[in-house]
Amino acid sequence: MADVQTQNLLATSFDLFAGLESTNHEQIVLCQDHATGLKAIIAIHNTVLGPGLGGTRFWHYAHEKDAIRDAMRLSRGMTYKASVAGLNLGGAKAVIIGDPKMKSEALMRKFGRFVENLNGKYITAEDVGTTTRDMEYVNMETDHVVGLPESMGGGGDPSPVTAYGTYMGIKASAKQAWGNDSLAGRSAAVMGIGKVGMHLLEYLHKEGVKLYVADINDSALQAAASQFGATIVSGEDMIGLDVDIFAPCALGGIINDATLPKLKCAIVAGAANNQLEDEKIHGDALKAKGIIYAPDFVINAGGLINVYSEYNGYVRENAMSQTENIYNTILEIYKKSELENVNNQQAAILHAEKRIHDMMLVHSTY
Ligand code: NAD
Repeated sequence: MADVQTQNLLATSFDLFAGLESTNHEQIVLCQDHATGLKAIIAIHNTVLGPGLGGTRFWHYAHEKDAIRDAMRLSRGMTYKASVAGLNLGGAKAVIIGDPKMKSEALMRKFGRFVENLNGKYITAEDVGTTTRDMEYVNMETDHVVGLPESMGGGGDPSPVTAYGTYMGIKASAKQAWGNDSLAGRSAAVMGIGKVGMHLLEYLHKEGVKLYVADINDSALQAAASQFGATIVSGEDMIGLDVDIFAPCALGGIINDATLPKLKCAIVAGAANNQLEDEKIHGDALKAKGIIYAPDFVINAGGLINVYSEYNGYVRENAMSQTENIYNTILEIYKKSELENVNNQQAAILHAEKRIHDMMLVHSTY
């Protein structure tokens, strides 16, 4: 698959056009403004299904090429996420290079003007290092921004919707593993009790799941223990716990050569992005171990569905009911994985690519 090849190419060399070609990116926009110190990259991966939507990350990258790689990797992920979720959206992502502490109204508004210049081909939102307040500044210069506060007609914090989709993905995975989607009496280890993890605990607790939690934030752990009776464990111990479900909700790359041999769970299903350090190697290894892996970009799409809902006059119930469909989608992907004898991550990518291909044919006549 283009995947591993692409990752290798991006990791070992920096031939920009070769990189764009291998990932089939449409466009990369470099934005520079001396007065505000803005240095931003907007990567537009694919707009067959609709405008490219993806948040703006503000990060102190060591090298410019790292920022370009990150924007490219993340924008490609957005294409797949939107496609599998059945949204009429393409994939894109922006990164602003610098210390988030250097943020100013002027810098964010200047960035907004660059977004505006793309005439709606790129729609931005908040991401790591940017806040709703930053998006309010961007919104002063462009309408092509989502994820605004509810007071401004936006959908507000998407995390509860992301958690609901993740919960649906866990239930569908239970159905696949045990023929029944009830989680009562099951056990789950949730790594990362942040905005998504805490909401996920609530759903699991309500269904009678025995919970284990790990985080680097002690107050989040104490809250999880007191509200949901969760048992606190260290991150390292969590990997080898004999539980039914492991739900990574913190960082990417948690499924790797070091963690894989220790896993004893039946299901890996969580909200964290890019959980497999290598999509092919670690996706295959999970399959070989008989562990059901719920592709992250499929089950954490609730946040994207939530911001997309802002286009039709935001109603949270509508976003939640569309997110519920993640249950059916994930079961379709498991079926595809069996039929085509590929790992679940690859099956999800094939599912996404098929929809993009089919819609390209639909758009081939005026
Ligand atoms: P968050 O920052 O609110 O929570 C992350 C939590 O992980 C924090 O409590 C943090 O202390 C903890 N953490 C960080 N490093 C850790 C480590 N080494 N070990 C254990 N815990 C650690 O983020 P969030 O919004 O809850 O998102 C969680 C994950 O889900 C992220 O990977 C994010 O990209 C992904 N995601 C979130 C959304 C959303 O709607 N918020 C949507 C899609 C995907």
